[in-house]
Amino acid sequence: MRVVRGAVTLEPPIRVEDILTRTWPKMHVGEADLGDYHGALVTDGGRAAMYVTKIANTDQKNIILAHLTWHWIKQALKGQIDLTRQCLVHVPREDATALAQIEREADVFASELLVPLEVLESHIDFPAEPKTEGEKTYMEQRTIELARQFAVPSDVMKARLKLFAARRRSFRPNKGPFRRR
Ligand SMILES: [Zn+2]
Repeated sequence: MRVVRGAVTLEPPIRVEDILTRTWPKMHVGEADLGDYHGALVTDGGRAAMYVTKIANTDQKNIILAHLTWHWIKQALKGQIDLTRQCLVHVPREDATALAQIEREADVFASELLVPLEVLESHIDFPAEPKTEGEKTYMEQRTIELARQFAVPSDVMKARLKLFAARRRSFRPNKGPFRRR
């Protein structure tokens, strides 16, 4: 993915603002009072700006920018040049409308960008499916630490670990207290 190659390293945390400003130097990234919205992408006559709600913390800001990056790459750069998109990021979206589908895709992209499974794998030192209480407790504690390390909200990390587990049922780590023997 081109946007990830813009990162200096794939070691977490991946800072989206760094990728954006390095890849698209004319992109303006700033904070604004967005009311109930989390982020906004505005493009106008070849200029582009991303705004993040000023009440977001650093990690929230990161994932909001990752979400907006999807709109930028998949919509603005694909021809819908003048685009104004105000977004909610990582909220439940039950409706089957085209708009909800687009927003879901942007959320998925944001998770994949910030927590690539192949990078996550090298940080997992617990079984995909914990069986003992000890393993469960350890996994819960590590989930919080990994969320901090990858700079994502912990429910995003939980969802990524769940997906990883579903894809790698037999995974046993090569390191840590629960390593394969
Ligand atoms: Zn959006």
